[in-house]
Amino acid sequence: MELFETVNDIKEYLKTKKEEGLTIGFVPTMGALHEGHLSLFREAKEENDLVVASIFINPSQFNNQSDLEKYPRTLETDLKKLEEQGCNVVFHPSVEEMYPEPDTTEFDFGNLDKVLEGEFRPGHFNGVASVVKKLFEIIKPDRAYFGLKDFQQLLIIHKMIKDFDCPVELVPCAIVREKNGLAMSSRNELLSKSERKQASLIYKTLKFIKVQAGFQPIHELKNYVEREFKRKNMKLEYFEIVDMYTLEPLTTWLGSKNVITCIAVQVGNVRLIDNIILFS
Ligand code: AMP
Repeated sequence: MELFETVNDIKEYLKTKKEEGLTIGFVPTMGALHEGHLSLFREAKEENDLVVASIFINPSQFNNQSDLEKYPRTLETDLKKLEEQGCNVVFHPSVEEMYPEPDTTEFDFGNLDKVLEGEFRPGHFNGVASVVKKLFEIIKPDRAYFGLKDFQQLLIIHKMIKDFDCPVELVPCAIVREKNGLAMSSRNELLSKSERKQASLIYKTLKFIKVQAGFQPIHELKNYVEREFKRKNMKLEYFEIVDMYTLEPLTTWLGSKNVITCIAVQVGNVRLIDNIILFS
């Protein structure tokens, strides 16, 4: 496995691989790798000649300094895990390497970055799109793998690819969960044992909603979820039932198609997000 820290070095290396006719599958990450990430690498490995990972904690997508500071950093174990997965190339640049000048790129995603995560993390998706666009330009992948766990991010990247005609195929990958249903996340490392147990309410609730979808009125389900989290002393940031492509909230189940429910919950000091597709 090759490790690169500079833009020029990785560009040069991948250029020769491209010239040899090899296809490149790319998995962007912020490190602290878990099974959720590794499932993306397995999929990329199956579909491409060469798998490239990036490990970069992008400051411009953090709207909260303490979230950035406490984000887990586990480079040594990450590299071991990537090697075991048969990853071929890792790009691990410094912030100065990626952004010698402050990041001033501004995207227009319409409504997509204003709601859900966008409402609670202003500027987050602009930072995500900016770094992913830059990484696409450096790596020039044939396919890029993103988890459905960050569903709104997937929509944003999809729009960015379309708007800028990025020559890359976006491959969405299923959510990988812990035994208790909690969606795997690097942030789960920051949960205490009891918080981890508490957090299992998130997926339990999503599964319950999936069973009720189409039968119970939407506003009643929303009230139910708000009450449940209050009862368990957990801070619910949002729980929304929305159109899967526009993220517009649904008010009725009539003609329901392409519906997803998204949730964000603060457990202790850790912010967790999850989602489940109700109707596809
Ligand atoms: P991150 O390191 O959090 O930026 O995540 C890197 C990629 O892994 C993103 O595309 C995430 O959506 C994906 N990912 C994170 N957690 C999971 C999970 N539990 N299941 C599937 N994909 C995930």
